[in-house]
Amino acid sequence: MHAEASPHTTTTTERGSFALARCSCGWSGPARRSRDRARTDAADHSRTATDPAAAGEP
Ligand SMILES: [Zn+2]
Repeated sequence: MHAEASPHTTTTTERGSFALARCSCGWSGPARRSRDRARTDAADHSRTATDPAAAGEP
């Protein structure tokens, strides 16, 4: 039973000069030099995580 509509809450964290995306599910993206890039990773994760078809099934 899911209380919240979106179990994947993504945030971006800065590490020095790098930025990386993090999710409430425990997922974390690669370190990016651009915060905009990290945001893209977060958006891409939440999209594929909530829609299995977008993950690229064989
Ligand atoms: Zn997630």
